[in-house]
Amino acid sequence: MKKWVYNFGGGLNEGRADMRELLGGKGANLAEMALIGLPVPPGFTITTEVCTYFYAHDRKYPDGLEEQVGAGLARLEEASGRKFGDPARPLLVSVRSGARVSMPGMMDTVLNLGLNDQTVGGLAEASGDPRFAWDSYRRFIQMYGSVVLGVDHHRFEDIIEHVKLDRGVSEDTALTAEDWQEVVAAYKETIERETGRPFPQDPREQLWGAIGAVFGSWMNPRAITYRKLHDIPADWGTAVNVQTMVFGNMGEDCATGVCFTRNPSTGENVFYGEYLVNAQGEDVVAGIRTPQPISEALAKPGEVSLERAMPEAYAELLRVREILERHYRDMQDIEFTIERRKLYMLQTRNGKRTAAAALKIAVDMAHEGLIDRAEAVRRVNPASLDQLLHPTLDPKAPRRLLAKGLPASPGAASGIVVFSADEAESRAAKGEAVILVRIETSPEDIHGMHAARGILTTRGGMTSHAAVVARGMGRPCVAGAGSIVVDYGAQTLSAGGQVVRAGEVITLDGGTGEVFLGAVPMQEPQLSGDFATLMEWADGFRRLKVRTNAETPLDAETARKFGAEGIGLCRTEHMFFDPNRIGAVRQMILAHDEAGRRAALEKLLPFQREDFIALFRIMAGLPVTIRLLDPPLHEFLPHGPQEIAEVAAAMGQDPAVLERRVAELAEANPMLGHRGCRLGITYPEIYEMQARAIFEGALAVAAETGNPPVPEIMIPLVGIKRELEITREIIERVAEQVFAEAGRRLTYSIGTMIELPRAALTADAIAEVADFFSFGTNDLTQTTFGLSRDDAGKFLPFYIEKGILPRDPFVSIDVEGVGALVRIAAEKGRKARSQLKLGICGEHGGDPASIAFCEEVGLDYVSCSPYRVPVARLAAAQAALGQAVDRTA
Ligand code: PEP
Ligand code: MG
Repeated sequence: MKKWVYNFGGGLNEGRADMRELLGGKGANLAEMALIGLPVPPGFTITTEVCTYFYAHDRKYPDGLEEQVGAGLARLEEASGRKFGDPARPLLVSVRSGARVSMPGMMDTVLNLGLNDQTVGGLAEASGDPRFAWDSYRRFIQMYGSVVLGVDHHRFEDIIEHVKLDRGVSEDTALTAEDWQEVVAAYKETIERETGRPFPQDPREQLWGAIGAVFGSWMNPRAITYRKLHDIPADWGTAVNVQTMVFGNMGEDCATGVCFTRNPSTGENVFYGEYLVNAQGEDVVAGIRTPQPISEALAKPGEVSLERAMPEAYAELLRVREILERHYRDMQDIEFTIERRKLYMLQTRNGKRTAAAALKIAVDMAHEGLIDRAEAVRRVNPASLDQLLHPTLDPKAPRRLLAKGLPASPGAASGIVVFSADEAESRAAKGEAVILVRIETSPEDIHGMHAARGILTTRGGMTSHAAVVARGMGRPCVAGAGSIVVDYGAQTLSAGGQVVRAGEVITLDGGTGEVFLGAVPMQEPQLSGDFATLMEWADGFRRLKVRTNAETPLDAETARKFGAEGIGLCRTEHMFFDPNRIGAVRQMILAHDEAGRRAALEKLLPFQREDFIALFRIMAGLPVTIRLLDPPLHEFLPHGPQEIAEVAAAMGQDPAVLERRVAELAEANPMLGHRGCRLGITYPEIYEMQARAIFEGALAVAAETGNPPVPEIMIPLVGIKRELEITREIIERVAEQVFAEAGRRLTYSIGTMIELPRAALTADAIAEVADFFSFGTNDLTQTTFGLSRDDAGKFLPFYIEKGILPRDPFVSIDVEGVGALVRIAAEKGRKARSQLKLGICGEHGGDPASIAFCEEVGLDYVSCSPYRVPVARLAAAQAALGQAVDRTA
């Protein structure tokens, strides 16, 4: 019989931390904690395989599950000395989901299961507190009613409000046991009315209802959205954990809390967390009551830390923190409950953290000797570095403080205020920067949080839903800004007499928790400290060089600052959009004959020379790959009568003649038209001018600095060996002319882009006349798929949604198809010329998954946009270290 159920705690541990695929993260770690002797209430885990079976078999359970759950339950009864449904000593359990990776708040949970009209008495007896027992029972009915039976939770809240009104009290805590008894009766009535059946009294029926609901919640819309956003496959399934209840809400000597073994926002090595006295787990995460800090060090005036309130339990928790960090060798996010001063562990997992914290923790742990440098490099998600490269508020900029909340997720953002997730999504889709403002967020808001630049809540702590989710997404977040009053109806927020309406701009500083009126100027990030250290370690592991795609001095400088080791692609046509030159460029393109073109090129030469001089200076002897002109003509031709008239006037031509020339040049399919080397071959004077500008510029910088630049001249869109031969001859001829004029020589090389399938397939022939290949995977993807780069947006998202393609192939390389061509070209090219240098300069050069592919194929370098250079350095190191790890940031 297949094993569907695994026990943990109470002296029987059948799982381990490395069984998370089968037991889910929560189940595997509960088993592991119990195994290393930590105080874990006994329970059992129903495996993820049951979930997969459930969905593959029309929501039916596999044979044998019922018996195994029965046996698990019997063991819990024995371990606890209680019985399911026993009126005197009832066993109560929690039923929780637990996927392979954590999906905070996305799936359902039921607590206090096993309570009914009889056992509530037993709980009252055992706790000596009837009020507590009836409060637990009503919580259970409420949770079970909404999660399992689908009754709207407002119905329950209305009942409580009604009773409070009746008693003339405003706090839940003012209600007595009798009041809760009345609430329970009303709840049960509501459930019978809404569902047509009485609330189930049989604990076993309750249990199976809850198990079904947890498995069912795997396919609820918010879980589906979350999986989509985080690339989690639907067939992983969730496990279900059934665990003996311990109570954090049995009185003032009970508590519940969530903490991180280090600060998840900054990464600082301080114990970090929050707790609530006399509360149940969900109260902390839900952000309904504002929790108190765990330690004295974190406590502000008026707050009572756990360290002060319950010193023994705190000391035990500190001991657990030490054990867990040493055991898992990573920052842990833990949930605990204190029942009658005794500590119980309910969860541990690798804690989600900001990119800054991920960096600091990785570097610190390597310094502390917990992990080695290679592991530190593996730990940080390259894509998350983006967060660190983002601007922060300029400290010198004037600002008007509106309010202050908790610094829940760092980074700064300005945007217009919106009050609903749907509006955040729709306005962001129109290109507006929005700040989502909510009293508190719930899992239903996830799409709006994703669309927003920043998130502001007025309630909840550092572990509230908003804070946890924002950190995971890398969105700046200020949480619990209690001095702000949000009025959803009036669509305003106000604080200190200031009113901000929907649509007005505010600025958040997620690093300090401050909220400002209007937009505050931002500044570029600092790239020193832990960032520099980790990058240096990464550089020690990587084999691939990292260059940048840049044509402006600003981009080149930024890229150098980020550690670029040269330019891998300078798109010279981008240098021609400048208003000073576009006229001459158009004149060149529109000229009727060579003489007309040469006249225009004459004007462009000095501009081009200065362009290259600037880049060579910045790159100070590093390789600079300059691609000769590759203009899809439609991007340069004047459009409409007015532009034509302007260009005609500038060229001293009759607009009608010009219009005819424009019509002549127009192409049905410019991406596959007269572009790339086809232009250089039909109009050699263009490449002659560019080659001259490169060599003259390089010689000038060599003379000026004594450090000769290394130009690598690259020919675009080659598909036929002869094309490269012809263009190579042009360049070599110009080089000799310039060297003779200057009386000095330079080292340079000539290579080609591989952007067409024909080039890849005949790479051995092409390599005979190329010093290097650079894979132009943008065009290579376009031409391999026969898919226009400019039009793909119309249907590609549909393809991704439907799983026809796993990913956008313009973002992450299509290894199967485009990758196969890259592999063929690399192999054939190297066979023909062993010293052939190989690089990539399509957008894929900055994508971690594509970089792993480049490492595998053995390319020499990747080239990407300046802001992606650090991402590429880290991804290249991880690719060289050769395995993916479970990353939490
Ligand atoms: C490419 O095609 O991948 C490339 C880098 O060139 P461009 O994007 O300029 O066509
Ligand atoms: Mg291209």
